[in-house]
Amino acid sequence: MAYPFVHPDETRVLSKHFGEPEARTLAGWEARGGYQALRKAVEMGPAEIVSEVKDSGLRGRGGAGFPTGVKWSFMPQASGKPHYLLCNADESEPGTFKDRELIRWTPHQLIEGCLIGARAINVQHVYIYNRGEFFETTQILARAIEEAYEAGYIGKDILGSGVDIDITLHMGAGAYICGEETGLMNSLEGRRGEPRLKPPFPAAVGAFGRPTTINNVETLCAVPHIVTHGGEWYRQWGTEKSPGTKLFCVSGHVRKPGNYEVPLGFNFREFIYEMCGGPPEGRALKAVIPGGSSVPILRPEEIDIGMDYEAMAAAGTMLGCGSVIVMDETTDIVKQVRRMSDFYTHESCGQCTPCREGTAWASRILKRIEDGWGSEEDLDTLLELSENMAGKTICTFSDAAAAPIVSSVQKFRDDYLALIRRGENLAASA
Ligand code: SF4
Repeated sequence: MAYPFVHPDETRVLSKHFGEPEARTLAGWEARGGYQALRKAVEMGPAEIVSEVKDSGLRGRGGAGFPTGVKWSFMPQASGKPHYLLCNADESEPGTFKDRELIRWTPHQLIEGCLIGARAINVQHVYIYNRGEFFETTQILARAIEEAYEAGYIGKDILGSGVDIDITLHMGAGAYICGEETGLMNSLEGRRGEPRLKPPFPAAVGAFGRPTTINNVETLCAVPHIVTHGGEWYRQWGTEKSPGTKLFCVSGHVRKPGNYEVPLGFNFREFIYEMCGGPPEGRALKAVIPGGSSVPILRPEEIDIGMDYEAMAAAGTMLGCGSVIVMDETTDIVKQVRRMSDFYTHESCGQCTPCREGTAWASRILKRIEDGWGSEEDLDTLLELSENMAGKTICTFSDAAAAPIVSSVQKFRDDYLALIRRGENLAASA
């Protein structure tokens, strides 16, 4: 069965076995070289694994882009307390659907990555926090974990090495904020999914009050490949500061939406127009969100950039988790931003006033403009409100909610003004 969205110019490392149902089984995964990296990792000391991952330059694929090896090195090696590795499979950012596919097609790739990550930071217990709505992937992953336990890859004395690692699969209930690392920890502990103040950072006080590292699914899936081939091998792709390949989830107005794996630094315009087929016939591109709904929007003339962390930042946006949302000229930008704002209003955990009140106010103002009752002053209010939402809260959710509002008002002001003028004209002629 061919995976429906494979392009010949993709560089398929993590997604190489997408579309092969037999790769989901333990036998199928072993036949593809699976668990050889784990064998190598149990012989390597934790420091050697961390060093190899540091050399690879692998950066967290959940959105923040923090170097994985460096993050691992923050974990205390001999605190005498239990330590934890949490795999964040919550994948809650609108527009993101890559982690779900990694688990759906290659659950053992993730399990192997979790086990190697655990070995690297000396933890005996891994929790995989999977999104509650991902019922199918939860079933697939649960079966794979069972198989790996039976084969001795998970549990006591893994492969006769004396290393003990358990994996627990935990289902969330489907809240966006449980994708935030400390919100996830609270949820895992059975509390409300509310982010925690930092410091203390998870590497010191994390899940159950113990040192904890949280890694994204895609990050952990890259680890077995790096252990097998080495950090230098991974650096053959990407840029100096953003090495390797990355999965990009493409949705919206393109002819071939789906998941694509390309080297970081790939040209964004070429990606949208050639790999993904560009907008539907006869329609022009209007806007692109490059990294999930919580990053600033780009205009068509801004997409001649590399798909890497630095180039996106230089363009005033973020790579985020690599969720590309494409909008053509038929898109009502105000309506789309209002819908995003409604989503954030609903998903705010409510602990911080700028976030709880700010998201709700922004939604109301955007709805007023959309319905033709807005004024030009509302645009200034939106910008001022957004400024007060960013950088003043427990977590970055509030910043994320404000980003599309600010960039849309700045870059698509004419769309807002057209709705405002239309409303004024209708009122005048009534
Ligand atoms: Fe909750 Fe929003 Fe504060 Fe984050 S910023 S802790 S989501 S209220």
